[in-house]
Amino acid sequence: MNFQELMSRYKLVKVMKAMEAAGLNHGTAGNASVRCAEHFLVTPSGVPPLKLKPSMIVKLDIKGHSKSRYKPTSEWKMHVDLLAQRPDMNAVVHCHSRFATTLACAGLEVPSLHYMTAVSGGLNIPLAPYATYGTAELAQSIAKTLQQGRRACLMANHGQIAMGTSLEEAFIISSEVEVQASYYYGTLVIGKTVCLSEQQMHDVVVKFKSYGQNGSKPPS
Ligand code: 13P
Ligand code: ZN
Repeated sequence: MNFQELMSRYKLVKVMKAMEAAGLNHGTAGNASVRCAEHFLVTPSGVPPLKLKPSMIVKLDIKGHSKSRYKPTSEWKMHVDLLAQRPDMNAVVHCHSRFATTLACAGLEVPSLHYMTAVSGGLNIPLAPYATYGTAELAQSIAKTLQQGRRACLMANHGQIAMGTSLEEAFIISSEVEVQASYYYGTLVIGKTVCLSEQQMHDVVVKFKSYGQNGSKPPS
């Protein structure tokens, strides 16, 4: 095993523990994956973060073949298909976070009520149609929803999924999806949601390109 694979295994354990600590996941809900050259590293099925070790991470090829003695996450196909479809992304996290799942159980997507909904890579956070967990149908539903620049969506009657160029980025996007879902839930409780216009959201997407340290000069 090379150094990069070892690091990725540690990072997968770390992100699963971080999701639990952040309240995004509980019990054995959720899973994560990262690209590893021509292969994919995924979390094992049914192992709570507290018991998860780097050696339990499962290395798969694109067809799901593995030499590991651990069973991969039931959602391995959803992860592998997504990473195969999106060469611009390297990592995926899936969780059953409270607000995102509540909206997903009500059949709702998150509209553009706050400029940070743009972290999803679009003007809203879409809702992928329902399919049974762990099926090729669910993998297909998610792959269809997360095409091109999309980075996150809600999963009907299930939860949410986010991806990034790294596990750290996927985790940050997933956390933001949950925060945005909580804002929307709050406005639904109040009974009034004020959304940003398409133009206002497009302005945000343009501004995002130079946000933070992006495009800044290196220190001299
Ligand atoms: P696994 O434990 O098999 O990863 O399943 C958890 C889950 O969230 C299924 O959607
Ligand atoms: Zn799930």
